[in-house]
Amino acid sequence: MASIILNKNNFFNNLDIISKHTKAKDKIALVLKDNAYGHGLIEMATMAKEYGIQKCVVQTESEALKVAEFFDYILVLADFPTVPSEKIYYTINDLNAVYNFPPGTKVELKVDTGMHRNGVKPDELYTAFARIKEQGLSLGALFTHHRSADELTSEWFWQKENFEKVKTHAKELAHIFGFESLRFHSCNSAALFRNAAFDEDMARVGIAAYGCMELPNAIAVEGLKPVLSLYASKLSSRELKKGDRVGYGGTYETQEDCVVSNYAFGYGDGFFRVLSNNYKTPQGIELVGRISMDNSSFLCDEDELLIFNDARSVAAFTQTISYEVLTSLKPEITRKIV
Ligand SMILES: *Cc1c(COP(=O)(O)O)cnc(C)c1O
Repeated sequence: MASIILNKNNFFNNLDIISKHTKAKDKIALVLKDNAYGHGLIEMATMAKEYGIQKCVVQTESEALKVAEFFDYILVLADFPTVPSEKIYYTINDLNAVYNFPPGTKVELKVDTGMHRNGVKPDELYTAFARIKEQGLSLGALFTHHRSADELTSEWFWQKENFEKVKTHAKELAHIFGFESLRFHSCNSAALFRNAAFDEDMARVGIAAYGCMELPNAIAVEGLKPVLSLYASKLSSRELKKGDRVGYGGTYETQEDCVVSNYAFGYGDGFFRVLSNNYKTPQGIELVGRISMDNSSFLCDEDELLIFNDARSVAAFTQTISYEVLTSLKPEITRKIV
């Protein structure tokens, strides 16, 4: 069986570092989409509340409803309302989507400042405001998303510039259309830490809170610690002779007489099959043979084997990013907070 351990001290340590940068806990909107980056939605919401986080960001209304009791403010990135709630704000991602929200819905307007994925164009702001007014929606904020905040290029700067212009224009429009006290936010984890003079209403922080942010050295942030570790328990052990082969297809041949143990987890739990014959645990223990759906073999005899305690190391083996490693972990895996 695979199990996940969530380290509360590390999570709180990360939130300390983040809130120092935002200058206030209530400016952190913890991003909890995709089962809290695979950590467990309710587990992370519970700890966040204990720490004093009041805001969160999710993808769907169904996620929002699950964590409604933990937060004062919830931003839904991509869904429409079915259950009215005072706390939930829904994102308008497209000019033509405005009419899909029932009158009275609390909304936030996404603006496309250069990523060209979602949001209205800066020159569509007037039309967007007019339609939001016409539809009787309650506009709470404008926000944008950076396409390259984690890369050491000029892109972050010009996108930030673009959003500053949007803010100025939006404040004029808010006056015309009567939307009081609009809020603004643009920062994910990387953008927040690049912004030494952060002064927005909130930052949407995901990967930094989970302790797996990766930035170029020149803009790296010290002290963040991974929250999630994955363990697997032993199903069986066997002594093998030099030249024996392990697993489907016999793709691994032992180099000497050795003990190989099998652990009850595999790609069915979200551990990538492409790591077959190509992974070493943090203790240097080699994964041997093919990863099966619910079985993986290692050159060791441990009862409880630490598979990883930093998703970035797994990401490096598979040439992906820690986000994908973490969100691949199935919700059914037991999660324990220590
Ligand atoms: C996922 C997401 C974030 C969080 O990004 P991190 O890099 O994990 O901090 C912020 N904003 C939006 C719109 C997102 O989709």
